[in-house]
Amino acid sequence: MNTVEPSQLKVYKRLRNRVESVDPLYAHLSRQIELISAGFGGEKEVERVIRTLNLPDDSYVFTDLHIPMSNNRYLQIDVLVLTPSYFLLLEVKNIRGTIMFEKNPNQLVREVENVREVFRCPEQQVIRHERRLRGLLNAISASGLPEIHPLIVMAYPKTIVLKGPEKVNIINACDLENYVEEINANFSMESQELHRIASIVERKSWPFLMTPLHEKFPLETTDIKIGVFCSECLSPIRKRLRLCPYCSYPVMQSRIDSIADLMLLVRNPVSNADIREFLNIHQHETISYILQHANFRITGKGKGTRYHLR
Ligand SMILES: [Zn+2]
Repeated sequence: MNTVEPSQLKVYKRLRNRVESVDPLYAHLSRQIELISAGFGGEKEVERVIRTLNLPDDSYVFTDLHIPMSNNRYLQIDVLVLTPSYFLLLEVKNIRGTIMFEKNPNQLVREVENVREVFRCPEQQVIRHERRLRGLLNAISASGLPEIHPLIVMAYPKTIVLKGPEKVNIINACDLENYVEEINANFSMESQELHRIASIVERKSWPFLMTPLHEKFPLETTDIKIGVFCSECLSPIRKRLRLCPYCSYPVMQSRIDSIADLMLLVRNPVSNADIREFLNIHQHETISYILQHANFRITGKGKGTRYHLR
């Protein structure tokens, strides 16, 4: 299992690097980075616990899963464990203080040092993603499936849950072992079918998860820093290089990511000319060469060719 920084966090850091600190978008991105970083710490803790679980040999563990579905929807799961006897769908929370799951509207209210804050309801998130996971399994005609267990997992046991969710179980990460031990493991699905499902999940998982931000925060290319920035260390890359001179990250990937930045921040879809202007690379052929290595969706022909984020 890996514990690499979530792709979403990397994208937010990249985008913030292009925005001036006075722009409202900068504050929005900083808040997202803060939230995801906290969640990331929690996911690492849960991963550590999962490593200690007595899972069957032919199990699969996915973390930070993002799968595009129809109508701009995503299946987004913090941790998905597929075993022949059960599937675990875990929504990991790393929240300090006292929390309450409120109804009508569904909200997670957190109180810490007398400050109240409202978060999106993890119960609703889990229910939504369980439904989407079932939709995905249906769409690939998965058969002979074991029971799916959706769970909210508190990464650290010190959070006080004053009022729990009604429809989904909530447990501390340290109690996952007991939970798993108590699942009735008499059922066992075909290992070939489990392998097929796991391969499809892996293949469909996609690093760019975000909806473009320009609908909410309209920006022009004149408002943001243009050019290619290293996706890893965020340094500007001005020369024709293969590797970043500061961190050795492949420049081709940073160029592709910079095109995605344009699509996320300014407009989507884009033309070759839009990309030339944004990357500050003036040769049409160079852009075409970069696009050959990218995975953008293409529509139109000749001068009307457009590249879409997805
Ligand atoms: Zn770098």
